[in-house]
Amino acid sequence: MVTFKVIILGNGSAVPTSFSNPSSQLLVHENKHFLIDCAEGTQMQLLKYRLKLAPINHIFISHLHGDHYYGLMGIVSTFHLYGRIKPLHIYAPKALEALINHHLEVSKTTLNYPLIFNPLEDFEGKDLYSDAVLRIRAFPLKHKLPTWGFRFCELERRPKIKKEFVGDHKPCIEAIRRIKDGADFETKEGELLKNEDITHAAPCPRSYAYCSDTAYHPPLTKYLKEVNLLYHEATFDNSMEEMAKEKFHSTAAQAAQLASDSQAGELLLGHFSARFKDPSILLQQAQAVFKSTYLTKEGNSYSVR
Ligand SMILES: [Zn+2]
Repeated sequence: MVTFKVIILGNGSAVPTSFSNPSSQLLVHENKHFLIDCAEGTQMQLLKYRLKLAPINHIFISHLHGDHYYGLMGIVSTFHLYGRIKPLHIYAPKALEALINHHLEVSKTTLNYPLIFNPLEDFEGKDLYSDAVLRIRAFPLKHKLPTWGFRFCELERRPKIKKEFVGDHKPCIEAIRRIKDGADFETKEGELLKNEDITHAAPCPRSYAYCSDTAYHPPLTKYLKEVNLLYHEATFDNSMEEMAKEKFHSTAAQAAQLASDSQAGELLLGHFSARFKDPSILLQQAQAVFKSTYLTKEGNSYSVR
């Protein structure tokens, strides 16, 4: 099974604490590393957990509240100091581009590498990123500022033909194509071999979705349908539902309701308010609605399965 996991670099909300870092995650798919949000201290968190900076070529910023992007300039600058030459792609709200450029201008820095800025506003209904095995899209959340969530989807894979079959029957290229499309195979002797007997079934495509800051917003199910692993903010507990609404954040139970309505496989909670040194109350309240819920823990990795 191809590696598909998320490593939590920070799961706290905006106010800094001595026991948590604000939002940042490293999503690893096969040998590709994607950074999702980049709060203050993110590069130190990468160092702390012995995660390499160099393989990161794509950074996704959900919105322009500081606890989701204040670490970005540090990483942009470190890449420059390391002598990076390969491009760095940043996907973020449009307004961030001018801010990055201003930082570079005032420090009289000309980056050694191309920084390719992709405004999220330009990608409605389009892929932010795609390759032969993975596709990434953004979708709008409901927050005080324009904010996006991200969904990482594996693409449908074709079945693999069994080696013994190829050795025994030496099928031509056309026959291989038909078998991969699901056809049976007729041997020279006229025996019909069933497709399921000559192939290894392709693994089901998996997906991961990230909902950073958002009010409870049932229409999000449209973007989260049957996601295998959902990360959703859970800033508050049930007693603070009014406050959650006012501040455009969610309670843990609301995150769980969304996971349930989206038929998600598993739910990860994060973006805990600084008042929850022990967020176990959030877990209890979410699990009452959606059993397969877990609290994120900084430094831990969670497989998409
Ligand atoms: Zn925010």
